[in-house]
Amino acid sequence: MAAVSAHEFFVPAGIFYGAGALGRLGGEAAALGRRALLVSGRGALERAGLLGEIAKALRGAGVETVPFPGVEPDPSIETVDAGGRAAVDGRCDLVVAAGGGSALDAGKAIAAMATNPGSVRDFLEGRELSERPLPFIAVPTTAGTGSEATRNAVITNRQAGSKRSIRHRMLVPRVAIVDPALTLPLPPDITAFTGMDALAQLLEPYVSRRCTPLTDALALDGMALVGRSLARAVANGGDIGARADMSLASLLGGMALANAGLGAAHALSHPLGARFGIPHGRACAILLPHVMAFNLPAAREKYGRAAAALGADTAGLSPDDAARAAVERVRRLAEGIGITGGLSRFGVRDGDLPGIAREARGSSLDANPIAAAERDLTALLEKAL
Ligand SMILES: [Zn+2]
Repeated sequence: MAAVSAHEFFVPAGIFYGAGALGRLGGEAAALGRRALLVSGRGALERAGLLGEIAKALRGAGVETVPFPGVEPDPSIETVDAGGRAAVDGRCDLVVAAGGGSALDAGKAIAAMATNPGSVRDFLEGRELSERPLPFIAVPTTAGTGSEATRNAVITNRQAGSKRSIRHRMLVPRVAIVDPALTLPLPPDITAFTGMDALAQLLEPYVSRRCTPLTDALALDGMALVGRSLARAVANGGDIGARADMSLASLLGGMALANAGLGAAHALSHPLGARFGIPHGRACAILLPHVMAFNLPAAREKYGRAAAALGADTAGLSPDDAARAAVERVRRLAEGIGITGGLSRFGVRDGDLPGIAREARGSSLDANPIAAAERDLTALLEKAL
């Protein structure tokens, strides 16, 4: 008799996506609160003046805004704690974050810290949220992190040089507004890095130990979108069709990872980001083909389907060759959008590898389809140097 098991699946209560979705922000915000802490970063959104448009949309719907701008890439414990205080001092009953993954993750954690006493540090170290966070609306302006659909926020401990997640089902954003027009100002390199993060966040959940039929369906469709549109979005940032595909792929990846977890590429990307400053998507792009090659014995059939989704002609190939075609496809996709070279160009040396491998632990590593010991990870990192 076939085994039947129950699965869980969490997503935002409201998802508005596609060109023009931003038009729904004001009404959705007004339904959730009167005063919004408006969290934003330092990226293309601000330079393009889109933040003003977002604030105007909120005010137009009768929602006052308390600005909390300037969230740094890889937001720190201090930034999140300051944001929590700003929300309390500003008497905010809602948090809206607009920006890349850093601004969204900060906003998500700030919404929790506005209602839960203490520092976010406590929650990174394992304390459970006891109070429901303020309602949180995520407005992504990059296509890759999927943070608009996930139940975790990655926060950096600068003193310890480590990145960790605060994670809880109550952290899933109440509403996600995914408007690809907001990604039009992104330069080619950020488009490339975030796009490869989206791909990693589809491929890793797809072969995760915690994958489910729902996450598989999302992941496979998302890969097809990346396969047909990432290179186009990098080559021509104004291609709204390609941008729409990538925004949707990122959203699908977020939903997949929130419910199936990730894998070794993400587990290794965190120490590489915290210690060597390698942008997250770039680290994922460098690691992904090597992690796939390592995982291949446990994921043959699925990699074969991934290869086809990514546009490879797998007709007539053996299962092994079809799986290898997926690895090759990912490698070539990254190269084709200008992501070349390995970890050594960021100052990572042979002697650093065992330490990085040791720090790569936690739920992402646990979800990897093959249990990876420290020596496996060190060998894998050597290939990615
Ligand atoms: Zn990622």
